[in-house]
Amino acid sequence: MISMTSKDFLELPIADLIISSEKVAHVQLGNNAEHALLVLTKTGYSSIPVLDTQYCLHGLLSMRMITESILGLDHIEFEKLNDIKVDDIMDKKVATLNIHDKFQKALDLVINHAFLCVLDNEEKFVGIMTRRVILKQLKKYIYQISY
Ligand code: AMP
Repeated sequence: MISMTSKDFLELPIADLIISSEKVAHVQLGNNAEHALLVLTKTGYSSIPVLDTQYCLHGLLSMRMITESILGLDHIEFEKLNDIKVDDIMDKKVATLNIHDKFQKALDLVINHAFLCVLDNEEKFVGIMTRRVILKQLKKYIYQISY
């Protein structure tokens, strides 16, 4: 087996490791919180990207953001779900990678994020890189240098 140095490993391109945009559950700018709640519940993901019709990334939306937006003083105001737009409750600070980035950048960023959004050179959303995929690669590499 040809063994890889840690430098080679950290310089691996991320492009082959991403989940491509057509397989990523997302909501669209302008969608209401009720729709977003349905998508999050059905997919079981804790957080998903918010895109526009041109596949530009605008933010991330999680179940917690929805719950917080309908939290009244002593009860949850479910009736508000229909009127709240994802645009107003999403987190606009998103950790992103460029499709041409190397594994090291993903490893650095994924410490604080369960997944990273990947953009192309035109800033269009092309997919995500998850912590699971990054850990799997790391495990493969560690096993390869250990035996
Ligand atoms: P994982 O590392 O596979 O557990 O994924 C971590 C997080 O990445 C999930 O909780 C979701 O927020 C997000 N994620 C993973 N796969 C998808 C997908 N296909 N569509 C949307 N979000 C995803």
